Amino acid sequence: MARRKLVYEGKAKILYEGPEPGTMVQYFKDDATAFNAEKKDVIEGKGVLNNRLSEYFMTGLNGIGVPTHFIKRLNMREQLIRAVEIIPLEVVVRNVAAGSMSKRLGIEEGTKLPRPIIEFYYKDDALGDPLVTEDQILAFNWASHQDLDDMVGLAIRVNDYMSGLMYAVGITLVDFKIEIGRLFDNDFQRLIVADEISPDSCRLWDIETGQKLDKDVFRRDLGSLTDAYTEVAKRLGVMPTNATQITKPTLIN
Ligand code: UDP
Repeated sequence: MARRKLVYEGKAKILYEGPEPGTMVQYFKDDATAFNAEKKDVIEGKGVLNNRLSEYFMTGLNGIGVPTHFIKRLNMREQLIRAVEIIPLEVVVRNVAAGSMSKRLGIEEGTKLPRPIIEFYYKDDALGDPLVTEDQILAFNWASHQDLDDMVGLAIRVNDYMSGLMYAVGITLVDFKIEIGRLFDNDFQRLIVADEISPDSCRLWDIETGQKLDKDVFRRDLGSLTDAYTEVAKRLGVMPTNATQITKPTLIN
C-alpha cells in the first residue's frame, strides 16, 4: 500500500495528505509532552483513546450545528478531517481557576469563576505560547475582528456543550483549549473547530472527589494517564474496541 504523504508532525499528532482534495488524515500518537515539551513520555494507548474521544466530542458538536473539521474515524488511530488553515492562536475557556491562571493571578485552584473567561495564546513554541491581548491579535493581523467574534462564539458553544456532557457523567469541565481553522469554500470562508478535543487539552475533575482525569495526571505525576482517560471514556460510554488488548488468532473450522 502506498505510504501516505506526511504534511506535518506535531507533538501528539501527525497530519497526512487525505484521499481527496480538501481532506487530511490525522494520526494520534502515544507521545505525551508537557511544559513546552520539557517533560516527555510514551503512554501506550493514549492515541487510541484520544482518537475515540475527539471523534465523540466533534461528532456531537457537528450534530448540534457547531462546525468542526471532523469527517469520520478511519481506524483506531486515524481520522479523516477537513483541511483548514489553522489560526495561530490557542483559544482557552475557563470555568474554574487552575493552571496558569491560578499562578498568574494568585487565584486558588478550584475557585469557581464568575462567568466563563476566554483567553488567547499565540501559538509559538519558541516563545512558550504567550498570552496575548485582542489588540495585539488585531495589530499583528493574526485574526480579524470578525474572526475574533466568530472564535468567541465557537468557544462559548463548545464550552456549553462540553460542560453539559461532562456534568451528566459527574465531571466538572474546569477549562479547555481549542484550535480554530479557516475553511475555504470557493470565494467563501468560515471558521470551524479543528485539531482535537480530548483530555490532553481539557481539565476534567470528578465532581464528588475532585480526582483529576486529564493531562495534569501526567504533568504532575499523579498516576496512570491511560486509567484516567479510560475512566472518562467509560463514563461517556465511549470505549475503544480492543484498545490495548491483543487478541490471539482463533481457528476457524
Ligand atoms: N492547554 C493545552 N495546550 C497548551 C496549553 C494549554 O491543551 O499548549 C490546555 C490545558 O490542558 C488546560 C487549558 O488549556 O486545559 C488551560 O491551560 P493553562 O493555561 O492553565 O496552562 P498549563 O498550566 O496547563 O500549561
